[in-house]
Amino acid sequence: MKKVLVTGATGKTGSLVLKKLLQRSDQFNTIGFARSREKVQELFDSTENFVIGDIKDQAILESALKGCDSLVILTSAIPRMKAPPQPGKRPEFDFAPDSYPEVIDWLGQKNQIDAAKKAQVKQIVLVGSMGGTNPNHPLNSLGNGNILIWKRKAEAYLIDSGINYTIIRAGGLLDEPGGKRELLVGKDDKLLTNPPNGIKTSIPRADVAELVVQALTCDEAINKAFDVISKPEDDPSAVITSDFKNLFSQTTSGL
Ligand code: NAP
Repeated sequence: MKKVLVTGATGKTGSLVLKKLLQRSDQFNTIGFARSREKVQELFDSTENFVIGDIKDQAILESALKGCDSLVILTSAIPRMKAPPQPGKRPEFDFAPDSYPEVIDWLGQKNQIDAAKKAQVKQIVLVGSMGGTNPNHPLNSLGNGNILIWKRKAEAYLIDSGINYTIIRAGGLLDEPGGKRELLVGKDDKLLTNPPNGIKTSIPRADVAELVVQALTCDEAINKAFDVISKPEDDPSAVITSDFKNLFSQTTSGL
């Protein structure tokens, strides 16, 4: 039985991971970490199995991670649209005060990694984003947050921490069912700059959530960092991914 803490557990992907792990109660003792008690109640009908806290608070993270074997990091800074865009103009974004990517994606993730190290957590699975090799990626200009740059800094910190890691850098996330596509893994944003047959570089959140769950049990996922997208559901060449050991075996260590 593995004790797992999932942060960002009220997020769109984090809540899927939490539900999947709770369904496997024979394998996992699962705790969610979230900042809003109301949102937990709304999504899960109960605050049982949850620690309510903020990732800016190192002490609460340390306490939540006591006795945990694994940590799943699914927190992220969340851009807000400042106002509806004027006709013909692009929308402008910012972040809530004290919730810029430097604070959430760098310092907040660093807090989680440091707390995990103190608690002698054996593995951290971190979900991040593709695009981090390009400082001029458009996501970095959202609210001048440089979100991908801070996310990548946290990934490097995790690798250097000495804790076993699995870093899953997803393509554009879709709210579509999982288990219906072939997943493709890569590195260095090559899938983004040169996608096979020009396919869209996207993946359902449910497939990312399944990858997280599989990474918690497959030795082949240990000390790996990779990009991941999916073939379209109706791609005639697709072979739906079911052998996750094989998929993780295609991935490599290091940033
Ligand atoms: P999401 O719904 O935006 O969830 C982010 C979570 O972080 C939320 O649960 C949020 O809490 C939590 N959080 C933020 N600040 C916090 C704080 N100070 N303390 C505690 N929790 C905090 O995430 P997602 O859209 O599923 O994305 C998952 C990951 O994939 C993210 O790293 C994202 O950047 C990455 N990604 C996204 C895309 C995309 O297309 N959107 C593409 C590739 C990769 P609340 O629930 O209370 O707000």
